[in-house]
Amino acid sequence: MPNWAENELTITGPDVQKVLNTICSKSSADDEARTLDFDKIIPYPKIYKELDQRSNEYQEKFLAIGKDDPERQDKLNTLAAEYGVEPGTPWLMDGFNSGGYDWCCENWATKWNARGISLTTRKDSSNGSTHKTAQCSFCQTVHNTEHMTVWVCQQCGSPLPDSQPLLAFMEFDTAWSPPIPVIEKLASMFSDHAFELKYFEGGMGFSGHARWSEGVEQFHHQYDYDGPRGG
Ligand SMILES: [Zn+2]
Repeated sequence: MPNWAENELTITGPDVQKVLNTICSKSSADDEARTLDFDKIIPYPKIYKELDQRSNEYQEKFLAIGKDDPERQDKLNTLAAEYGVEPGTPWLMDGFNSGGYDWCCENWATKWNARGISLTTRKDSSNGSTHKTAQCSFCQTVHNTEHMTVWVCQQCGSPLPDSQPLLAFMEFDTAWSPPIPVIEKLASMFSDHAFELKYFEGGMGFSGHARWSEGVEQFHHQYDYDGPRGG
């Protein structure tokens, strides 16, 4: 098992929900990726993805051939011909082991997607982050809500959405290192949002604190760390 870096990411800005919708995988078999999927930010190359898929398919078909199936040998031969391998080969080289691993290390700074993800959101009540407008979802009229006491559309009478922005706090683990390039890319995709990352890795003994806003890094400090987190 690798050492794990524990990460804490705080996202603030006018439409945090949009950021959260972008970074999750809605139809992933991997539960974790439904909250945070690095592939949505810096896509894992198609060539490796296809090889991974092909390897999974092969393995499923291989395992589906019963050990006591009287036609086992024929089926193994057919399967081997379809995938261009020696009959009876138990697995195919997947994309991750054909360059995908190196790609992840280089592009995500960690060999796997995030694990152990927990997400909490709350109303962002910090100074200067209160939205002053709300758009009616029925007639699309935009209202200035600064002095409104009852949030109702002046045009059509529909209730207006609560426009106080969200703050998202996400905790997750990454293998060996924090996913700095991924957060950096995310910050550039949503330059009207701010991203603050803290990370802790007790095994090698380092931690850090970085912040991006307006699409660029504001600071990134690294410290020695001998606490209990990560490792
Ligand atoms: Zn309206």
